[in-house]
Amino acid sequence: MSQSAEHDRISLSPPHMSGRELTLVHEAFDSNWIAPAGPHIAAFEREFSRVVNARNAVALASGTAALHLALVALGIGYGDEVWVSTLTFVASVNPIFYVGAQPVFIDSEHSSWNLDPELLAESLEARARKTGKLPKALIVVHLFGQSADMNPILVACDRFGVEVIEDAAEALGADYKERAVGTLGRLGAYSFNGNKIITTGGGGMLVSGDEALINHVRKLAAQARDDAPHYQHSEIGFTYRLSNILAAIGRGQLASLEDRVQARRQNFEHYAQELSGVPGIEFMPEAPWGRHTRWLTCITVDPARFGTDREGVRVALARENIEARPVWKPMHLQPAFSAYETIGGSVAEDLFLRGLCLPSGSTLTYAERQRIIDVIRHAAA
Ligand SMILES: *Cc1c(COP(=O)(O)O)cnc(C)c1O
Repeated sequence: MSQSAEHDRISLSPPHMSGRELTLVHEAFDSNWIAPAGPHIAAFEREFSRVVNARNAVALASGTAALHLALVALGIGYGDEVWVSTLTFVASVNPIFYVGAQPVFIDSEHSSWNLDPELLAESLEARARKTGKLPKALIVVHLFGQSADMNPILVACDRFGVEVIEDAAEALGADYKERAVGTLGRLGAYSFNGNKIITTGGGGMLVSGDEALINHVRKLAAQARDDAPHYQHSEIGFTYRLSNILAAIGRGQLASLEDRVQARRQNFEHYAQELSGVPGIEFMPEAPWGRHTRWLTCITVDPARFGTDREGVRVALARENIEARPVWKPMHLQPAFSAYETIGGSVAEDLFLRGLCLPSGSTLTYAERQRIIDVIRHAAA
């Protein structure tokens, strides 16, 4: 390997175009549908629905917008509580504030790194018994490409009348007992941000089995315009539709989803083969209930056994121009959210302190992975 190739930057999760996207974007230009309306949008929604087997889908400007409109459509607002996984990206939580509700942060389980179903069930029961104040909704996150343990979560929420919104932004392509993540709760949100498994350069999708709910979201996303020739509005809307141009990119990307999952799983398999025997390094476990896409391959570093800590490994990689990222800092540790209640939290804190996400793009080559593996192996020295 040449000196310059050795120092080429390796990003955490860069976009990966197939070539099909530009043809579809040209179609958008040729038809002059340069707007948040047009034929690619409906086609993208239809094709996406088919891939995840959802009954209804609406394309939106971002995954955050999808979560925001999910809360609005369910009528969640001032004074309501929404429970949410603490180990996540901030986009799972910000929309709770957009509607004036309050979060309660729920810890993870070690076995999947996702929301702990037992802790959830116990806590709902304790709340019902002690104060009677129950959350209106739960936002359950499918972290780094792996489904949360949805059956017990759905049972607990159903028992206490809590709506379930799935944040599947990181887990398109993952499933739970042969059903796609995002289609198990009342609503499911996905993201096509630049670093996700497929990207439109920025975008999102909201799905539901409830057609009326998705129709309402479609209306809310377009300034909540009533069905009238004049401009009439009976409720407050948003401007959250996806552009026709970006939907064209999304259609091209969606056709490659299965290849992208395979490539990311291959990254994981290579890392695991080379590093799982190294004392002090462990991989995010793969739960038995479905396919983990390995959107990101994440490890934990035990400093006592490995010889340096997570930051030691991250800095060693950064010095070689390789981007790795700590596991999400839990939401209950974020200064912006310090005033809000947390249930548990020690598992998420431990995963944050020891966890590191390795470069995981679907363009990553064998040689690049080998270079990353070598840096990690020598990081302790
Ligand atoms: C990326 C992401 C989102 C939303 O992303 P957008 O950038 O708004 O599309 C939401 N939740 C999680 C967990 C994410 O990783």
